[in-house]
Amino acid sequence: MENYRFPPHCFCGVLSPVLTCWSDDNPGRRYHGCAREQGGCNFFFWIDPEMCTRSVEVIPELKRHIHNLEELVMPMLVDEAEEFEEAATRARESEKNLSFILIVCWFLISRSKVVMNEMQEQKRKLESENKALQAYRSREKKLWMALTLTWACIGLWHALMYRS
Ligand SMILES: [Zn+2]
Repeated sequence: MENYRFPPHCFCGVLSPVLTCWSDDNPGRRYHGCAREQGGCNFFFWIDPEMCTRSVEVIPELKRHIHNLEELVMPMLVDEAEEFEEAATRARESEKNLSFILIVCWFLISRSKVVMNEMQEQKRKLESENKALQAYRSREKKLWMALTLTWACIGLWHALMYRS
């Protein structure tokens, strides 16, 4: 850390970013460099102290392990992502179907309400016609009774008249 100066600006006058070296000699060692990726000013100094021999041996080995694991795991992740995408597509598809069914149901229910109302209206009409018919029949019965009574009276009067 003895080389570390603050605030670090490169020779271009821009704030210098913290970068990490991954060379075999300095694996994982941080440094300040130029902010420009191309055509920079070659500004450079290490942030971390010089690395010990053991770190120089072990870190690239660990890096290789990580790389191998990534190669092993990445295809699995890709497969899982594809499966997930397929499942999501299926879910969207069935959501669409359900919405359609819901609309059809809603239409049928509203239609059946209309039909029910019409049927009730018909029922009310039939009931009132039935009442009118019953009233008419009872009036007819009364008329027949009156007629029969009248004929009986005439018969009786006739019989009395001819007997005397
Ligand atoms: Zn620069």
